[in-house]
Amino acid sequence: MRIGIDLDSTLNNLLDVWVEEYNRHYSDALCPDEITDWGIHQFTKDSCGLKVYDLLKKPGLFMSCEPVKMSQQITKWLSMHHELWIVTASEPNNIEEKAKWIDLYYPHIGSSNIIMTRDKSLIHVDVLIDDGWHHIHAFPGIGLLMDMPHNRKYNCERRMMDWMDVFRWFQANTKGES
Ligand SMILES: [Mg+2]
Repeated sequence: MRIGIDLDSTLNNLLDVWVEEYNRHYSDALCPDEITDWGIHQFTKDSCGLKVYDLLKKPGLFMSCEPVKMSQQITKWLSMHHELWIVTASEPNNIEEKAKWIDLYYPHIGSSNIIMTRDKSLIHVDVLIDDGWHHIHAFPGIGLLMDMPHNRKYNCERRMMDWMDVFRWFQANTKGES
């Protein structure tokens, strides 16, 4: 089957890196766990607000992200049985750095398999793995929601607590399928 995989906060730890950058710039002590809904600007100081998104333009920010625990091993295993696509709602100016990051840490997917879109429901994959509840909610196929503080208030049929959960879901649901 075809599997779409989100990049930010699904394969990388962007939220940790971003919040650290925000705290440094605005002398705050925000924790990722305190961001309990989509839209990080709701949780920043008034002096910051929407400027929190400008921090993502810093060169090298995406390259400094780390892969999420076990995501490299599990996607490698998935790539032996399925077709994998990175589906990211990225800003165009970030895509070059993200492509380099994917080639570095996920060569088994590769930057040639990146799809950039704001509307992930348009993408013709069978399964979408994403931490954005709105993307999973709108997706017509099978959505696996990666658990994050910002999506805990929303109900989801298939909530994955980590990449081992993703591994177990595919083992249980795609027996012998490719
Ligand atoms: Mg994401």
